[in-house]
Amino acid sequence: MVFGITIKPAQPTAVAEFEEGRIFSRARELVERVREAAPGMYLVRSSRGEKDYRVDWDAQTCTCPAFRRQDGRIRSRCKHILAVELYRSQGQQLLEEAVH
Ligand SMILES: [Zn+2]
Repeated sequence: MVFGITIKPAQPTAVAEFEEGRIFSRARELVERVREAAPGMYLVRSSRGEKDYRVDWDAQTCTCPAFRRQDGRIRSRCKHILAVELYRSQGQQLLEEAVH
């Protein structure tokens, strides 16, 4: 039992951070499905494994439905773009480890 704690209504930023956290954990699972098709162009196998979504890293776009959803507005990031970001940072880490 916890007294004295007021649960505040979710602020838009809190919701966004929660969403970001959820997307982030999904993205981590997708990292091993990332393949580099061309420089700056990545293919990410979908969660169900039946198709690839194309991520254009330079344009920060993805061909998945989630990216295009959201009241017709373009989402800033989806889990595939995040997965590519993680994939790239891993590669960077490996490079740094190789150098040091
Ligand atoms: Zn996507």
